[in-house]
Amino acid sequence: MSTPTIGVFALQGDVREHLAALTRLGARAIAVRRAAELEQCDGLIIPGGESTTMAKLARTFELFEPLQKRIGQGMPTFGTCAGMIMLADRVVDGTADQETLSGLDITVRRNAFGRQVDSFEGELDFQGLTEPVHAVFIRAPWVEQIGAAVDVLARAPGGEAVGRIVAVRQGALMATSFHPEVSEDDRIHRTFLDLVKQIAT
Ligand code: GLN
Repeated sequence: MSTPTIGVFALQGDVREHLAALTRLGARAIAVRRAAELEQCDGLIIPGGESTTMAKLARTFELFEPLQKRIGQGMPTFGTCAGMIMLADRVVDGTADQETLSGLDITVRRNAFGRQVDSFEGELDFQGLTEPVHAVFIRAPWVEQIGAAVDVLARAPGGEAVGRIVAVRQGALMATSFHPEVSEDDRIHRTFLDLVKQIAT
């Protein structure tokens, strides 16, 4: 695959930064608001934002089931922050009626790092990358429990959350608690693009 088409779920969240990162890396990046756009995608990013709103909007715009279907069929998908929650099979501290697309055999705790004012940044080691990553956490979830098929890619570097799992991969699915799109460091997006290419071939 020479130029993969990567969608960014665009009904809610920080879409623009992900589109920019993907474009810098040479992918064809498209905003996904409807099923016809999803059909063009070789892979998908679900951005940070607000997971309960995302799920409701996905229902309203009839994207929820098409997303679940593609993810279930093995479309490479990368969730960041709220996107991680959207991919999680189980959510702690969600709203009573919170739905997720699911697919990742993880339990996430919503808003685990505290409220927006408590957001924090730190350098962390990320599996497969030689230099540490500067990670920005904003009302972020962490992963409390993982299934046997899930690999841990990174853990929280310090503070009260030290050692908590903040990045995972399971087959074609990848998720981070933090926001790799807010820096100019594209290495984590590159890792996802490599996964898309590897799965397509
Ligand atoms: N706290 C948000 C949620 O529950 C996620 C925050 C984020 O994506 N920056 O969806």
